[in-house]
Amino acid sequence: MVILSLSLGDFVWVDTGTGVPIGAEVKVTDTGQIQLLDDEGKEHKLKKTNEKSIRPMHPTSVKGVDDMIRLGDLNEAGLLRNLLVRHKEGIIYTYTGSILVAVNPYQLLPIYTIEHVHMYTDRRLGELPPHVFSIADSCFFNMRRNRKNQCCVISGESGAGKTESTKLMLQFLAAVSGQRSWIEQQVLEANPILEAFGNAKTIRNDNSSRFGKYIDINFTKGGAIEGARIEQYLLEKSRVCRQAPDERNYHVFYYMLMGMSAEKKKILSLGNAAEYKYLTMGNCTSCEGRDDVKEYAHFQSALKILTFTENDLWEISKLLAAILHLGNVDFEATIVDNLEACNVHTSTNFKMASELLEVDPKALGKGLTQRSFQTAREHVTKSLTSAQAMDGRDAFVKGIYGRLFIWIVEKINSAIYKPPDEENEAKQSIGLLDIFGFENFSKNSFEQLCINFANEQLQQFFVKHVFKLEQDEYARENIVWKHIDYQDNQRTLDVLASKSMNLLSLIDEESNFPKATDATLLQKMNQYHEKGGIYLPPKNNYETQFGIEHFAGKVFYDSQGFLEKNRDTLSSDLIKMLEKSTNKLLKQVFCNDLKSTSGTFYHSTILITITSLDSLMKTLTACQPYFIRCIKPNDFKKPMLFDRELCMRQLRYSGMMETIRIRKAGYPVRYTFDEFLTRYRVLLRTSICDPKTVKGDWKTGKTKIFLKDHHDTMLEVERIKQLNVKALLIQKVLRG
Ligand code: ATP
Ligand code: MG
Repeated sequence: MVILSLSLGDFVWVDTGTGVPIGAEVKVTDTGQIQLLDDEGKEHKLKKTNEKSIRPMHPTSVKGVDDMIRLGDLNEAGLLRNLLVRHKEGIIYTYTGSILVAVNPYQLLPIYTIEHVHMYTDRRLGELPPHVFSIADSCFFNMRRNRKNQCCVISGESGAGKTESTKLMLQFLAAVSGQRSWIEQQVLEANPILEAFGNAKTIRNDNSSRFGKYIDINFTKGGAIEGARIEQYLLEKSRVCRQAPDERNYHVFYYMLMGMSAEKKKILSLGNAAEYKYLTMGNCTSCEGRDDVKEYAHFQSALKILTFTENDLWEISKLLAAILHLGNVDFEATIVDNLEACNVHTSTNFKMASELLEVDPKALGKGLTQRSFQTAREHVTKSLTSAQAMDGRDAFVKGIYGRLFIWIVEKINSAIYKPPDEENEAKQSIGLLDIFGFENFSKNSFEQLCINFANEQLQQFFVKHVFKLEQDEYARENIVWKHIDYQDNQRTLDVLASKSMNLLSLIDEESNFPKATDATLLQKMNQYHEKGGIYLPPKNNYETQFGIEHFAGKVFYDSQGFLEKNRDTLSSDLIKMLEKSTNKLLKQVFCNDLKSTSGTFYHSTILITITSLDSLMKTLTACQPYFIRCIKPNDFKKPMLFDRELCMRQLRYSGMMETIRIRKAGYPVRYTFDEFLTRYRVLLRTSICDPKTVKGDWKTGKTKIFLKDHHDTMLEVERIKQLNVKALLIQKVLRG
């Protein structure tokens, strides 16, 4: 056992038994007692502290380092404390190798000026303090030097700063790619439009993106921005009809109600946000710090830049207004032929909705309250209960909004994307992926499963990449090494989407059976996956929750509503009604449905998700990747507040620990020969230089020496022993 000899001002790790060890400094109290003061300001009396719970801190952890890979304490505690000490000093960026960790500062920092752009232009990664501009610069210059497409995967939980980081990357790329051009401005101004339709105030983030996006920016051979293409994923459509407490609907509704002229509002028969059910579910219609009037002005000017006409905006406003009116439509319950049925309450809202959708009010009323279907022999019509009618109405509204969103993205793309022609078929590009992070709420449903599936795929991509980097370094240094075992999430992916009878395919298959229910789905999932350990079956026959062992932890999903959510069905009666509508935009956004002859209007969400993720993975795999891991330091949107537990959880989700694990499985500690000699010169002529003492698996490469953790610890302990002559020995205190 190594007995610690501590001096005043030394730093140690204290394992309080409640989580990850915390850093602490050796201090003297006013009464002359020696104690440990930890990073959260808590005091630990040495006498009471178990000797075994204290470990010396590696010098690199004391003040922190720019690149976490250089930490002597290459473990969870080390990573966490490194971010903490830097956060205290207002340093938000840190590397782990070439991965950038960005802690949301929740305040405007003066580090994004044009001077910073110049400073970071054409510099090697690591040459200057870590910065998001440095990643953008590496992407840009690698693209040009290596003629290889680059991508940057920006991840993190809601509010961690993904969208801001994406904008900063874009800002840098626009600045270095040359003179301000029209196309460049168009690419930049696509954002406010996307955010108007796809972002909302949530309890986690006042400007939360409720969709994932991949922006592929194309450059000319000369390095100027030539165009871009935006891909969107999994817009949260349910928000259009329902919001959780203290959350809002999509920004665009409030923009319109606050910013549109009184005359126009009158034509659309619009009032204040408080008057609409769809805008008041969360009991929250304004958002502190957001000026909806100003945002509407910005939104309008962005639309112009992206070649939307005044008329386009008017047509869009009509659909948005129709949605709000539809939300206020009431249904009155009645009894027809001894069966529950309902009628539309013919209010102004109902009249306005049919007027704006340009459909016959009778047809709309019928479409909302009845459902017709084909049996083997005849066409029958069934009355809906008022609850069913409301569900059908909400599905219709979600259908309109979801398709409108896709249409907006396509229209933006038609303005900014120049498909390759014969002359410049080899475009160079940088793709930025701003996608929702892993989700684990108290209640998880189908949406979380889709999101977490996307995250499993990205994690797989990340791990493969990190593993490859590790192998490359060994190859460069001519090191012979045994195969490194690393924790891989392939098994989870297999159960989710690759194996036969995988979970996603089961959900999709069951969605095709009209008779299937969430319960029959659960039975099938149990039948095929009960044993593997990845799928965690419900505890009993009444339980509707099943679990999945994800790379970032177990998540329990409630299977109720899975099939309905995957089917995303629209009433065929309503679609038929749209055929007769004279509203051009409405018909355009539904054009695929109107063309469809199958008669069933269901879109398998899973199929769409898998297809679009597959294509994303293909794109990413063909690029040289960079990763930005955004971290939210606290739940209060406050600067200078670092919640250790919250950050630790995110570090685990982020795959950073995976990087460390892979390194640890190999030779985690590496010094150049020079560094090694300088640091351990004091050990010359001690027993440690006897080859018999230093047993085990360590390697010398071409320029570096590669060690295992225990070698490093031994070297460090010996080194401290040799250096420690002047120290005030606290050994006595420790022994009581
Ligand atoms: P979501 O998943 O909900 O979309 P997100 O990760 O995209 O979340 P952002 O919208 O980028 O989160 O950031 C949330 C807020 O944090 C921003 O509105 C801004 O106030 C603040 N913020 C994020 N990054 C920075 C930064 N680099 N500098 C200053 N403030 C920032
Ligand atoms: Mg976002």
